[in-house]
Amino acid sequence: MTGTSTIAVHGDDGLNPGGAVSPPIVQSATFSAESDERFTAVATETRGQAFYTRYGNPNHAQVAAVVAELEGAEAGLVTASGMGAISTIALALLSAGDHVIVQRSTYGGTTSLVTGLLARFGVAFTQVDQTDTDAFARALRPQTRLVLVETPSNPLLELTDLAAVVELAHANDALVAVDNTFATPVNQRPADFGADLVWHSGTKYLGGHSDVSAGVIVGSADLVDRVWQTAIVTGSTLGPIDAWLLLRGIRTLSLRVDRHNANALALARAAEGHPAVRRVRYPGLPTHPQHELAGRQMTGFGGVLGIELRDGRAAAGLLTGLRLAKRAASLGSVSTLVVHPRSMWAGIVDAEQLAATGIGEGLVRVSTGIEDTKDLVADFLAALDAADRPE
Ligand SMILES: *Cc1c(COP(=O)(O)O)cnc(C)c1O
Repeated sequence: MTGTSTIAVHGDDGLNPGGAVSPPIVQSATFSAESDERFTAVATETRGQAFYTRYGNPNHAQVAAVVAELEGAEAGLVTASGMGAISTIALALLSAGDHVIVQRSTYGGTTSLVTGLLARFGVAFTQVDQTDTDAFARALRPQTRLVLVETPSNPLLELTDLAAVVELAHANDALVAVDNTFATPVNQRPADFGADLVWHSGTKYLGGHSDVSAGVIVGSADLVDRVWQTAIVTGSTLGPIDAWLLLRGIRTLSLRVDRHNANALALARAAEGHPAVRRVRYPGLPTHPQHELAGRQMTGFGGVLGIELRDGRAAAGLLTGLRLAKRAASLGSVSTLVVHPRSMWAGIVDAEQLAATGIGEGLVRVSTGIEDTKDLVADFLAALDAADRPE
């Protein structure tokens, strides 16, 4: 099997005519055809790239091909953001009267989409504890069309047993869509466990440099075609320049993720021993309750960890004391980014949902960058020392 670095660099070779080693940016909203017959052909083509950029563009096709191959999927589609990806998937696959299963610990936007917007349109939902596979079994109904999985989850780093949940869902004729933003295809390939659709916030690790908002969806050509039919109506269109930036980021995905993995593991180990720290959430630590599952379905443990301090004040102390790490939303950047999820989630989910998430006041989410490990660890240990000092 071709390796991830090779795919990231060559996965679009057939889609880049001409000799330019860096694919040209096709910054055009529309395309001309050499004949009326040809125009009719491109106008009715599914996922084409020579009609109208909302329908498809060469820069879209290049990214989609690379991510699909990285994920071991047949086809792909790009959107203007991760939320553009999941909302388009949901609108494509669900109708009033259907039922969807979603995790209690999941990205706040996904919670809001399901419990707010989809519910308004008559789609029922059940929220489950992802660490309990039986909870998925109990939640399944004859009307269940879709199971939304996110593993590791944002921001609690809880895992879902991909093989087991896919088996349950498929036995019930439900589809499984997995948010693979945290792991990236370098660390985990949900399609290998039977997931029907895999999607990403390309804004995070795929882009990797905090300079582009994007989403990617991959799966079988049939399913991706269905999602595309909705995408051209919902119009979450990625700009060609942003698609180009996303592809440029993906070229180095494997190199970056290796460093992210190493930095997160080193920081998790260092923080775990610190007196100010109650608990470190990281799937790569033997103390993670699902470490064994992580070893079964992941080849690396990712760049995000949760550091839990005694309370909100100590968390604020850590956030304030950091010098290298930036206090900023998002993750998967070359720069280490830290947030206080309890405060940030309040902006995207309602108070009742926030209380149910299990996100504590003392939790700090850390997305390690690609800085030198020793510098990063030193930054955190100094800030933890300061946060621990009694006033
Ligand atoms: C950021 C994020 C999203 C949303 O992606 P956007 O590109 O910001 O729309 C979805 N899922 C996870 C796990 C994320 O971290």
